[in-house]
Amino acid sequence: MPVPPAGTALAGGTNGPRALRPLLDTVLDALTTGAEDRAGPLPPGGPEAVARSVRDACAPLLPEHGSGPHTALRTLVHTLAAGAADPADPHCAAHLHCPPLALATAADLAASALNPSMDSWDQAPAASALEALTCRELAALVHPTATAPDALVTTGGTESNQLALLLAREATHSDQGRSRTAAHHGNATAPLQIVCGANAHHSIHRAAWLLGLPGPITLPTPDGVLDPHALDAALHTLHSPLLITATAGSTDSGAIDPLPAIADLADRHGARLHIDASYGGPLLFSDTHRTALDGLARAHTVTLDLHKLGWQPVAAGLLTVPDPATLAPLAHRADYLNADDDTEAGLPDLLGRSLRTTRRPDILKIAVTLKALGRRGLGDLVDRTLDAARTLADLIEDHPHYELHSRPTLSTVLFRPIGADDTTLAGIRRTLLTDGHAVLGRTVTPTGLWLKATLLNPHTQSGDLTTLLKLVEGHTPR
Ligand SMILES: *Cc1c(COP(=O)(O)O)cnc(C)c1O
Repeated sequence: MPVPPAGTALAGGTNGPRALRPLLDTVLDALTTGAEDRAGPLPPGGPEAVARSVRDACAPLLPEHGSGPHTALRTLVHTLAAGAADPADPHCAAHLHCPPLALATAADLAASALNPSMDSWDQAPAASALEALTCRELAALVHPTATAPDALVTTGGTESNQLALLLAREATHSDQGRSRTAAHHGNATAPLQIVCGANAHHSIHRAAWLLGLPGPITLPTPDGVLDPHALDAALHTLHSPLLITATAGSTDSGAIDPLPAIADLADRHGARLHIDASYGGPLLFSDTHRTALDGLARAHTVTLDLHKLGWQPVAAGLLTVPDPATLAPLAHRADYLNADDDTEAGLPDLLGRSLRTTRRPDILKIAVTLKALGRRGLGDLVDRTLDAARTLADLIEDHPHYELHSRPTLSTVLFRPIGADDTTLAGIRRTLLTDGHAVLGRTVTPTGLWLKATLLNPHTQSGDLTTLLKLVEGHTPR
């Protein structure tokens, strides 16, 4: 056999690590020099400058003869790092875009090298066993009194919310099927009606659209959270089947809906309850903050995102259920993946654990993080992050030129320079972005536009926050 050309070594097997090591040296060096070149939370110059440097680094992107692995890795990794919005920089605080832990990132490398695919046992023997264990462990954290809670791994809150709506739709179909048979009358099946707050994530609306469900009834949330009285009144006017979707940590402000009161209303009106805890869910790790999630366990489905407060590289989503029967509608057969006789012979059937087929073992980095840090270690990161938000709120309250929207619930702080109108605020945010000095978000509320700092870096110091306020002040016209 001729010797294979350079750059075509494989990552697996006993020789894989030997091939990987020098490539990793190149990658790590390029990550370092890229971050040094950027010297801030994101590259200066705006979209055109960044696109130009990417174009220059790539050209030619598909050469007749390749440049070899080290040159390609060095050039492109350096360019990507130099042009990154880096959530590890304390001034990169616009979105629920977390700085991943080094340890989780290292685990993700192993996931890529081994490349298990989670759609059948014969592609992922150990990874599927690890996924089953880890999902049950995390589900038990969300639903501590359930007998056999379980969870599905997803690409994030969007996919989890879609699955939650699908499972609610299927559950109510089968309920209606049963009651029709019992009553011997044949009303057409009524579609599932979703009720949510204006604070609900946009993915709830898209999922309803995708699933062919009526548009969600969206109740105003002038205070940032669902009002139980308004919800009660709305539920009185609606007919089953109903799904209430509550939010534990809104994307715009981090507010948590009053979960116990909402769970009571769901019981009283015979509605199903989904709670989107994409952002707030990891407060369960914290002894200090977990009571903010009282009532979470009463939902039929819960969305959790560990690529937000959870410090995982994307993707790391979960959908937890107290009752594994909720997941039954996802059962699906494809002879080449889960033939009946294979399943009867004891091979685990994985196809019903996702709507995807080929699927990465995102569970490995999550399991490594849980084991390495423990519940207390993760809880401590949550506490530090929420403390940083409280510190920023204190600095703003004590500052003569700033106003604070409200005390933070999670790690989102809404603020603005006193007297700045919406156009000025939007301009400040864009200037900070294009100068590469800071990445801040924006939230529209009934009192106008606000700057949004979403703090997810547990190592942020109060000095970083003082500098952030100075940066904004420096860009505020007087
Ligand atoms: C981030 C977020 C989502 C979407 O999650 P992705 O991981 O981006 O798909 C859904 N709901 C809430 C409340 C979120 O904050």
